[in-house]
Amino acid sequence: MIKESLLNPADVAYRETIAAGDYWMKVVRAGDTLRIVDLEGNQAADTLFYSAANPAERYSAVDTIREQGNVYLTTGSQLVSNEGNPMLTIVADTCGRHDTLGGACATESNQVRYDLGKHHMHACRDSWLLAVSEHPEFAMSKRDITHNINFFMNVPITADGGLSFADGISAPGKYVELTAHMDVIVLISNCPQLNNPCNAYNPTPVEVLVWH
Ligand SMILES: [Zn+2]
Repeated sequence: MIKESLLNPADVAYRETIAAGDYWMKVVRAGDTLRIVDLEGNQAADTLFYSAANPAERYSAVDTIREQGNVYLTTGSQLVSNEGNPMLTIVADTCGRHDTLGGACATESNQVRYDLGKHHMHACRDSWLLAVSEHPEFAMSKRDITHNINFFMNVPITADGGLSFADGISAPGKYVELTAHMDVIVLISNCPQLNNPCNAYNPTPVEVLVWH
């Protein structure tokens, strides 16, 4: 569901642009609101959420889908942890639909989907692994990399239950906004994918804004 935000970017506590292919890993406090902006359109922000108090508690696609009875994420979707607790709620969304089924790109899936010669190309999973290794303060490792949300990505379910990677429905300046119910570690891989037509083979920057 399309819903515009009432928050004013002039009042923002923090904002940063994430270059295509980079990651962003920060704590967003309970009560804060995080906005992710698709600056140039049809970019995928592959995102994981963890409880800052206990990173073993993290975003669960399975629990979120079951609790809301819908496979797509948009305004009103409450993101549920593997412990069944509400982590964040999507409070505004000008894109209208976000995927949490397709998973993230990895060098292995690039080989399967595109070409054996693509193995060396940078993938979201590499960005996440780099993030956890460069942030030892969170005491996380490869084992903590689990299922994610693909903000701005369009992965419609076919009539017979299949997954299809379709052209994006996002556009320059579209955003999604989430209010945190607990202190959360947010880990975004701004997807570096160069082989998927859904971003026109052109990964682009996204922006994050946080309001207290
Ligand atoms: Zn990716």
